[in-house]
Amino acid sequence: MVLPDYHLHTPLCGHAEGKLDAYARAAVVAGLPEICFTDHLPLYWLAPENRPAGLAMSEEELPVYWQQLTELQKEFCALRIKIGIEADYIPGREEALQRLLHSYPFDYVLGSVHFIGQWCCDHPDQVVEYSRRRLEDIYEEYFTLLIQAIRSRLFDAVAHPDLIKKFGHRLPAPPLKLYRAVAEELAANGVCVELNTAGWRYPSAEAYPAPDFLRACAQLGVPVLLGSDAHTPQHVAWMWPEAMTLLREVGYRAVAVFTRRHRQILLIDAVQ
Ligand code: ZN
Ligand code: FE
Ligand code: FE
Ligand code: ZN
Repeated sequence: MVLPDYHLHTPLCGHAEGKLDAYARAAVVAGLPEICFTDHLPLYWLAPENRPAGLAMSEEELPVYWQQLTELQKEFCALRIKIGIEADYIPGREEALQRLLHSYPFDYVLGSVHFIGQWCCDHPDQVVEYSRRRLEDIYEEYFTLLIQAIRSRLFDAVAHPDLIKKFGHRLPAPPLKLYRAVAEELAANGVCVELNTAGWRYPSAEAYPAPDFLRACAQLGVPVLLGSDAHTPQHVAWMWPEAMTLLREVGYRAVAVFTRRHRQILLIDAVQ
């Protein structure tokens, strides 16, 4: 019983390694029926000359991404390979994003909040910023952006919804009210949540989102997808058994999959 991995990167973003066929082969070896690549969309809100290197593919690389994955689909016909994209949410730039997302018939669009203003809050080189602000304010701001992203309805799902804990910065008590608020927005806007196992690789030491957060989503009927956020083939389906246990514990019996942004439901017990 193996669930699809809906969050894989490629070397085009500048900070992932391994050839595309190595990701696909890792998925086959792990017994996955389906994968979805979601590499980082170009930093559309910045002028091309102001885009820092190594964060995302360039605009010229987007057609290359599409073509490489189309070829991979032909090469691995026994594995369902979906072409998705991970897109940053930047308030006020919704139209530019919308235009870019419509330039290809993506299967799946995964929305992420990595930026609080200019600050890339999951970048190891910018961790010092956590000590410059009140942690309560940081959490508030992060979840406010996440809710705006959900309301924009530009995304099929939100990635790593409590990424802000990545480096281990925790509030004295878990922000249950914020979890609940996000879960309600997801439910109201028909947006899915991602269970992202990469959190287990960082000081956060738990998947994104936290179990209480995921439980709030499950209780409100928010569909879930699993993602490893692999930036190397070894991370495909990373900690899948643990993720599956967590899904069941909080009450999920199904995961979502997407084709051309159309959602279908896969019963966990029916996956093989
Ligand atoms: Zn990345
Ligand atoms: Fe991300
Ligand atoms: Fe990612
Ligand atoms: Zn990511």
